[in-house]
Amino acid sequence: MNPKQKRNKKQRLIDLFGSQCWWCSKSLPQKDLTIDHLLPKSRGGTNSCENLRLSCFPCNNHRGNSLYPPNYKSLNYF
Ligand SMILES: [Zn+2]
Repeated sequence: MNPKQKRNKKQRLIDLFGSQCWWCSKSLPQKDLTIDHLLPKSRGGTNSCENLRLSCFPCNNHRGNSLYPPNYKSLNYF
């Protein structure tokens, strides 16, 4: 994704899910949200909105390439 596509994707995700972290529900300004892949790209995940969620930096960073949420509290999305 180029930066413009990334911005559009982010806006779309905010419209869908709100301006908050998908994992910890923390509300954040758009600039502090990162795009997180439910199924990591390294495991074949796509850049479609179904596979993308907004995440705060600590949660995104903590997950890395894991298939699971940062603290394993909700496993019901798969
Ligand atoms: Zn978070």
